[in-house]
Amino acid sequence: MEREAAKGKKLNRITMKEIDLIKKAKATRLKAYAPYSKFKVGAALLTKSGKVYTGANVENSTYGLTVCAERVAVFNAINQGDKDFIKIIVAADENPPVTPCGACRQVLSEFARDLVVVCVNLKGKIDRYSLKELLPEPFEKPSTEEKHRTGKKEKGR
Ligand SMILES: [Zn+2]
Repeated sequence: MEREAAKGKKLNRITMKEIDLIKKAKATRLKAYAPYSKFKVGAALLTKSGKVYTGANVENSTYGLTVCAERVAVFNAINQGDKDFIKIIVAADENPPVTPCGACRQVLSEFARDLVVVCVNLKGKIDRYSLKELLPEPFEKPSTEEKHRTGKKEKGR
C-alpha cells in the first residue's frame, strides 16, 4: 500500500503509518519558532528502519537565517546517524498544503532521490508528490576526477 501511494498525488490512500506520521508532523509544527511570519511548519521524516525524525521551522530576526522544518528534520536525522529516508510529511495551516521550498528539495535530494513527499494542512487535505517530480534536475557536484580526465567544465546532458 505504501508503494502504491507513492505513485502520484491523485492516489490518496492513507496508511496507519501515515496517520501516525501526520500526527507527529502536526504536533511538531506547534514547536516552531516563528514570531515574525507566524507561519508554522512541522515535518516528520520516515527512514527505512521505521524511525521518525521531526523538525519545525526556526526563524531569525535577520530573516535570511531562518531554517525550514524539513531541513531541521533532515539535520536531526543526520546527527543521529540516519540517512535512509523514504517519506516526509510536511504540515502547515495553508490551503492548498504547502510543498517544500527549493532549498529543502535540494537538501532532501542529497539523501533520497526517491523520497515520497506528503503535504498536509490542518483541514485534512493531503497532497502527494515524489521528490523527483518536485525537483527533476537537482544540483549534483560533478566528480573532480571526471572533470580532470575529460577537461569538461559542464556536466554532459
Ligand atoms: Zn524549505
